[in-house]
Amino acid sequence: MIMRKKAPVNYIKYPIYARPFTLTEKFAITFKIMPIKCNICGHITFIDVTNDNFRENCICRNCHSFNRQRQIAFVLCNSITNKRRNKDLTEFCNTTNLSVFNTETSGTVHNFLSRMKDYTCSEYFGENHISGELVNNRMHQDLMSLSFNDERFDLVISTDVFEHISDPYLAHKEIYRVLRRGGRHIFTIPFYQTDFSDEVRASIDINKEIHYYHEPLYHIDPLRKEGILVFNIFSIEMLTKLSNLGFRTNMYHLYSPYYGILGSNGLVFEAIKEK
Ligand SMILES: [Zn+2]
Repeated sequence: MIMRKKAPVNYIKYPIYARPFTLTEKFAITFKIMPIKCNICGHITFIDVTNDNFRENCICRNCHSFNRQRQIAFVLCNSITNKRRNKDLTEFCNTTNLSVFNTETSGTVHNFLSRMKDYTCSEYFGENHISGELVNNRMHQDLMSLSFNDERFDLVISTDVFEHISDPYLAHKEIYRVLRRGGRHIFTIPFYQTDFSDEVRASIDINKEIHYYHEPLYHIDPLRKEGILVFNIFSIEMLTKLSNLGFRTNMYHLYSPYYGILGSNGLVFEAIKEK
């Protein structure tokens, strides 16, 4: 008789295929509500689940955070400090003394992080502005050409921003420049979980003309009513390119009903500047 050994507990599996809904997710979809411990505001509360596309859904009744924001918060609380992990973003902001650059100026994560002493935030207002310029009292930054000094920050955060940058790896290089050694860029992006190469959907040439390789795809953007163009959708190729720039990148695949992190696409990346 052949004895089957138990499979090892720790392993990395790629590609990451979408899976059927878990029992907890079915419960959340059916009842449109679920109890959680929110890892942003720290409250034991409920999330409202309005549809089965969980990524920008599952809204905390206390702080209005949604699923993807709690994914970012999870990695923030677990990664940056060398001491014990922070239990929620509230504790992280109160106890962590870091210089933080966030590439958005609104939303729940911004609202919490803005309590920190050395916090900088910006938006992209278009090519007619210069990085560092104030537009309607908000700072404009082009991530491909930041106005900050070298090694200015411990932490950079971007949530679903890099797919809209025409040369995303130039922007990653800039972020590498402004990070201190040991600093990190924590980010989310649209990511093909079963592919191996980035999909270049559009590019800009030296005459600033846009070339399309696929049907133009736009995401909703509060700053532009026509939406914002998607230049790239990333895949595992991105990890190699980040490595070539000097980053060591962790890829987190998160699922935690306890924190209201649902779905099979909870991916957060943490690019660490080690040298
Ligand atoms: Zn909350």
